[in-house]
Amino acid sequence: MNIILFGPPAAGKGTQAKRLVESRGLLQLSTGDMLRAARKSGTALGKKVAGIMDRGDLVSDEIVIALIEEQLDLNPHAAGFIFDGFPRTVPQAEALDGVLASRGKTLDGVIRLCVDDDALMARITKRFEEEGRKDDNPESFKVRLNNYNVQTAPLLPYYSAQGKLTEIDGMTSPDAVSASIAQVLDKNGNGNTVKKGFWARLFS
Ligand code: AMP
Repeated sequence: MNIILFGPPAAGKGTQAKRLVESRGLLQLSTGDMLRAARKSGTALGKKVAGIMDRGDLVSDEIVIALIEEQLDLNPHAAGFIFDGFPRTVPQAEALDGVLASRGKTLDGVIRLCVDDDALMARITKRFEEEGRKDDNPESFKVRLNNYNVQTAPLLPYYSAQGKLTEIDGMTSPDAVSASIAQVLDKNGNGNTVKKGFWARLFS
């Protein structure tokens, strides 16, 4: 099962992705985490992207696509992937379709966590105070939110046209959001519910 957790920064994608890693044995591919790791270890890539990230801008499509391809190839036997913070542009989404297809994989669904701007701002202010992530400062966050609206939101019609998009309320508690995600995944036949239904029908 390969899915995208979609939504603006601070929508809760990372939190929910980690829960899916635990509950379903999927691998989380967060391009933000990969880039932060590159910065922390001081690689050439890390140095190249540092300023861009701190401003809240997007790094180039080529860089993030290469990171994703690398992870897909490092984990050929994974049960599935959760794409978190990727894709963020239409060319990234098109590239993802291609890199999955060339590896005999498909994208099963896109789950959008809907959170309004005021709630995002409140969450990010709290996270900035608690964790001090540079790009959570109010100026950078405004840039990130604007980039989401201008460059990333256009992916919604892209995935909707493919019949892959499901929207859920991301303003409820983390547990309630997890329950909504589980419902979507199981309804789509990616979990146990559908399999149980199949066997139940067979033996009824
Ligand atoms: P995130 O943790 O997903 O909010 O990502 C933090 C920062 O990393 C973003 O503000 C961008 O600068 C960069 N980044 C992460 N993922 C991508 C992506 N898919 N495309 C471009 N830039 C990205």
